[in-house]
Amino acid sequence: MKRLLAIGAVLLVLAGGCAVLVLGAAQQAHRFPIGIGGCAASAADLEAVAAALGDGYGEAQARHAITIWQTAAERDLPEQAVVVALATAMQESRIRVLSNPAVPESENFPHDGEGFDHDSIGIFQQRPHWGDVAVLMDPAGSAGLFFDALERIDGWEDLPVTVAAQRVQVSAYPDAYAKHEDGARAAVAAIGGGADCSGEWMHPVAGFGVVSGWRSAERPTHNGVDLGAPRGTAILAAAAGDVVKVVCNAHTPAGRQLSCDVDGSPNVMGCGWYVEIAHAEGLLTRYCHLRERPEVNIGDTVAAGDLLGYVGSSGRSSGPHLHLEVHRSHAPTFDTALSPVELFSSKGVAL
Ligand SMILES: [Zn+2]
Repeated sequence: MKRLLAIGAVLLVLAGGCAVLVLGAAQQAHRFPIGIGGCAASAADLEAVAAALGDGYGEAQARHAITIWQTAAERDLPEQAVVVALATAMQESRIRVLSNPAVPESENFPHDGEGFDHDSIGIFQQRPHWGDVAVLMDPAGSAGLFFDALERIDGWEDLPVTVAAQRVQVSAYPDAYAKHEDGARAAVAAIGGGADCSGEWMHPVAGFGVVSGWRSAERPTHNGVDLGAPRGTAILAAAAGDVVKVVCNAHTPAGRQLSCDVDGSPNVMGCGWYVEIAHAEGLLTRYCHLRERPEVNIGDTVAAGDLLGYVGSSGRSSGPHLHLEVHRSHAPTFDTALSPVELFSSKGVAL
């Protein structure tokens, strides 16, 4: 069964103030579930989730569904837990936070409507013995209580959705949950399919193609592509993001620091003047061998197409070109490098 997110995910707050998820080596891709990894749900994402839930579901319910997913992800629960929770919420409240006149305090909290079933409140129609009204009226809080109860049921993962839901809810209508299973499953797929949230991508040195490939047979440790642009070509940010590194890295094999303001050579070590940009979806781009100090600074927020600097030959370089890397982590290592040609292609850009 598919776990929602890799264990070992760490929250990191970048200079731009945007919380992003840095994933352990187990995490593959560059798409995050909607609402995860700094990917705010777009209007289109919400529409897709609402459509998956079925007729009569809208943006507010899609947001709650995403919150339920996030709550499960924080606990490293499998997708099946979200299916059970959504089917339950669909039956109990149509995924609406319901206040109840029988619980006057519940009216003090944000809600999507009113319910009148005994003293049940919130998305899961939990009764006051479940917990504080404030928690029951909070989408994440009530989902947390639901998952607490679900996890206490032995073997819940192997039970039919409707049985697992009924055991948690101790409902008088045990079969009522089954009819929501398809919608719940479709919504889980829509959320988990990911948001394309890093925006528009573009070629950083348009018109100049690959002259040396990523991890080619001749250069198996070449972690990027070399784009054959002449000295002085403007290098543009491939996508929106935050500048996280502006560095001169040029030294002798023995470690003596060299200037990046002059051309390097194949005997020099290091990337020369280089820039890294952290993007949404946990992606990072790196631009090497710039002619002089880059035009951006650490902490700058850039849009796709913003000027980063100019093509040069600083560092380990035999002539002017742009060495471009893409990583699936904001903490790049050899293992996090992706094929730039493939990644850019997935964003609609031919390198
Ligand atoms: Zn290169």
